[in-house]
Amino acid sequence: MSEFTVSLLYKSTRGSEKKVSAAEAILQGIAEDGGLFVPEAIPTLDKSLTDLVSLSYKELAFTILSKFLTDFTEAELKSCIDKAYNDKFDTTEIAPLKKAGDVYFLELFHGPTLAFKDMALSILPLLLTTSAVKLKEEKKIVILTATSGDTGSAALEGFANIDNLEIIVFFPEIGVSEVQKKQMTTQSGKNTHVISIKGNFDDAQSGVKKIFTDEELAKYLEENNVMLSSANSINIGRLVPQVVYYFHAYLELLKKGAITAGEEINVVVPTGNFGNILAGYYAKQMGLPIGKFLCASNDNKVLYDFFKTGIYNKDRDFAITISPSMDILISSNLERLIFAVSGNDSAKTKGLMDELNKSGSYEITEAMKTNLADFFGGFATEVQTKEAIKEAYNNASYVMDTHTAVAYSVYTDYVKATADNTKTVIVSTASPYKFAPAVMSSIDAKYEGKGDFELIPLLSEISKTDIPVPVKGLDDKLVHHKTVCTKEEMKNIVLENLGLLKM
Ligand SMILES: *Cc1c(COP(=O)(O)O)cnc(C)c1O
Repeated sequence: MSEFTVSLLYKSTRGSEKKVSAAEAILQGIAEDGGLFVPEAIPTLDKSLTDLVSLSYKELAFTILSKFLTDFTEAELKSCIDKAYNDKFDTTEIAPLKKAGDVYFLELFHGPTLAFKDMALSILPLLLTTSAVKLKEEKKIVILTATSGDTGSAALEGFANIDNLEIIVFFPEIGVSEVQKKQMTTQSGKNTHVISIKGNFDDAQSGVKKIFTDEELAKYLEENNVMLSSANSINIGRLVPQVVYYFHAYLELLKKGAITAGEEINVVVPTGNFGNILAGYYAKQMGLPIGKFLCASNDNKVLYDFFKTGIYNKDRDFAITISPSMDILISSNLERLIFAVSGNDSAKTKGLMDELNKSGSYEITEAMKTNLADFFGGFATEVQTKEAIKEAYNNASYVMDTHTAVAYSVYTDYVKATADNTKTVIVSTASPYKFAPAVMSSIDAKYEGKGDFELIPLLSEISKTDIPVPVKGLDDKLVHHKTVCTKEEMKNIVLENLGLLKM
C-alpha cells in the first residue's frame, strides 16, 4: 500500500509465536495450533465519520479492507472489491438500510444466495486466489466447508469455476430449508462437490475440523500437491469484509439525519457462529460509535447463557429450529472475543478452549466478565420468533425472515426491560423468500402445510416485493449433487471427490 502504511500482522488466539501476513492468514484459514488468526492490533481509521459519508459501498470497503489487509496492493484490493460487489447483488446500495416502525433493518440479503453470507463469500474467493498468487502457492486449493445452510450456497456460488481449486461442502441432512438444500444441490461447476451428512450441523462442523487437524491426511495431500483451506467464518478473509457494513449502516443513518456524528447506536445481531457480531465489535474498536451489541439466539441459547453467567456450556440438547443457520452449539468465533476480553492473553484462551474440548464447558474470570459489558445476550423461542414476524408485518408491513425475527424479538424484549431508546439497527441476515413456510405460517395459519415453492408467489403478494431472481425457477433446476454419507465417512468422501485413493 502507501509507504506510510505500517504492515499489520496476524497471530493465533492460542499463542504460537509465529506471526503471518494477511495473505498467509487467509490462505491458511486456521492457525497451526488450532487457534484463530487475529490482527496484532485492531487498526483505527484516519478519517472522520463525516468524511466517509459520501463514499459508495465499494469505496468504503476499500477504506476498511486496506487497514486490515496491508500486504495487498491498492490495485489488488480494488479489483477484488469490484468483482465481488457487482450486479450479482440486486441493488447498487449492496446493503440497504430500511426503516420499519421505530427501528432500522440493515438488509444483508441482496446477494446471489439471499443471505448475509454473500457479503463475505462473494469476496473471499478473490482474496484467497490473490493471496495464493502473492505467496506463489502452486498447490491445488481445496475449500472444505461445513454449513448450516447459508454458507454452503454462498461459498459454492463464490468458488464455482475458479481454476485450480475445488470446493467441498458438507451440509446436515436435518435442519436446512428446502430452498437452501435446492440452492446447494443444483449448483453447477465442475469443481463443486456437495454432500449431505447424516446428522446435525455440529456433526458436520466437527467432522470438518477433524479433517483439518488430521496430520496423516495433511501429509498425504501435500504429497499430492493439494492444500486444504476453509470458507467457514473463522477465516479472517470473511470477518474483515463484514466490518464494512457496520460502518455503512452508521453512515446511512448519518446521511438520513437520523443521528448526529458521534452519536452511539445499538445493533442487534441474530447469532450462530459469532462471526457477524464479532465484525461489529471490531468496527467499534476501530472507532465506530456503537453502544450495545444485542446478541440474539434461538432455542440453542448457549450464548445467552454465556453472557448471563460467564459459563460456556455446549453440553445440552441440540434444537432444530425455524432459524437453522443459528442452530449451533459451538460458536467458533467466540474464541476471538474470549481472546480480546482476556486482554489478548493467548495462554488463557488456549486453556479455556482446551477445557471446552475436554469437558464441554469453561468459565471465564471475573475480570473477563467485566469486559463483556458491551454485550447483552437475549434469545427467542420458536413461538416468540413467529410472533415477532407477525407483529412486524401487522404493525410495520415489513416481512422478516426467521433469523431476523429472532433479533427483532430480542430487541423488543430489551427495550421493554431497559427503556433504552438508543437508535437501533437490526441486522437482517436472510431474505424471507428463503424460509417462506415458517414466515408465511407465522403471519397467517392458513398458509400452514404449504411448500416453499407454492408460498413464494404469495409472499411476494403480501410483502409487495418482487420475487428475487435467485429463487425464480429454482424448483425446476436439475439436482447435480446426491451423495449422502455418515460422519465417519467424511474423510474418504473428500479423497474420493479429489480423485485420490482412500486411506
Ligand atoms: C450464518 C447466519 C447467521 C449467523 O451468523 P454468525 O456469523 O454465524 O453468527 C444468522 N442468520 C443467517 C441467515 C445466517 O445465514
